[in-house]
Amino acid sequence: GQCSAHCPVGAIYEKDDTRKVWEAIMDPEIHTVVQIAPAVRVAIGEAFGYEPGTLLTGKTYAALRRLGFDAIFDTNFAADLTIMEEASEFVERFAHGKGPIPLITTCCPSWVDYLEKYYPEMIPHFSSAKSPQMMLAAMVKTYYAQKKGIDPSKIFMVSVMPCTSKKYEIERDENMYSSGYKDQDASITTRELARMIKSAGIDFHNLPDEEADQPLGIYTGAGTIFGVTGGVMEAAVRTVYYFITGKEMEKVEYTPIRGLDGVKEATLDIDGTQVRIAVAHSISNVQYVLDRVKQALQEGKEPPYHFIEVMACRGGCVGGGGQPYGATDEIRAKRAAGIYTDDERSVYRCSHQNPAIKQLYEEFLEKPLSEKAHKYLHTHYTARPLYLK
Ligand code: SF4
Repeated sequence: GQCSAHCPVGAIYEKDDTRKVWEAIMDPEIHTVVQIAPAVRVAIGEAFGYEPGTLLTGKTYAALRRLGFDAIFDTNFAADLTIMEEASEFVERFAHGKGPIPLITTCCPSWVDYLEKYYPEMIPHFSSAKSPQMMLAAMVKTYYAQKKGIDPSKIFMVSVMPCTSKKYEIERDENMYSSGYKDQDASITTRELARMIKSAGIDFHNLPDEEADQPLGIYTGAGTIFGVTGGVMEAAVRTVYYFITGKEMEKVEYTPIRGLDGVKEATLDIDGTQVRIAVAHSISNVQYVLDRVKQALQEGKEPPYHFIEVMACRGGCVGGGGQPYGATDEIRAKRAAGIYTDDERSVYRCSHQNPAIKQLYEEFLEKPLSEKAHKYLHTHYTARPLYLK
């Protein structure tokens, strides 16, 4: 039903997809590929007795390898790719007037669903960039399959997400079949992965730290902060600044949009040009932001913001409905701290610096917003008003 499909906290019903994943792993004909979302690595430890926020990326890769996946990639790589496309889209609109402002981020499928139902008139403001989950899946069944000479019909693509809505995003429209196959075959939650690791008898604590596979496993600090409210915007800011000025930001940490305040507003100065930003998480907060925008547009006034990030879950994906149960603000803050540590430790802090992303554009996608990028990395939205307001 509608509620079960779109309950952002997954409280109503959870669809268990681990069986299909096991079947694919057991099938010797199938090449199984997996990706893990940013927020998974700072929460999965809670299922094994670690403190919330413990950064367990290497052990999670190791566990996935022990479970039998053939290739282990990282959603953070595709978060960098989302930024390349979305920041380019923003610059096209903001600096070159090609499309309406504000631009609204769309990597949270619960938000997309809500916006299509309750704010369909805002659809021209939605970013057409797919979410990182869907971008990675499309690149696996095209770029990676070609590079490795693997028949994409023999690839089974799994994602581990902090989110129950991601299970529905994988079939939301025909753009989710951009490779000619179902791009993402199954999406499991952090909780489901923890159950798989336990049922396989893997001793998580004693696993070594391992690396992801290449080339879709390299990520920057900007990619990892997607897991926390304000992170998508902060990642975008780092790259928008570079795209507009040709220079790197001196200090990449953009703190005004960090933290658990419901609506965070900031004005970014790009060489004298002011970019007005809003970040909202959880329903009541986005209503405030969107109602302000709607009112200004209706009155023919300058919109209050140029760029808006929206996330359905309090705290962003670290507080997602697929994460270990019992999240409080304290736990959300600890998980967020783990994510910021991952960013600080990263060699590259900005998506446009990711060498594997550069290689992907050189070898396959050409440039952001190219015809090929549109084919595989972008989508569209449909007004589905529930009732006349
Ligand atoms: Fe899923 Fe993240 Fe959106 Fe929550 S905020 S519904 S975890 S994508």
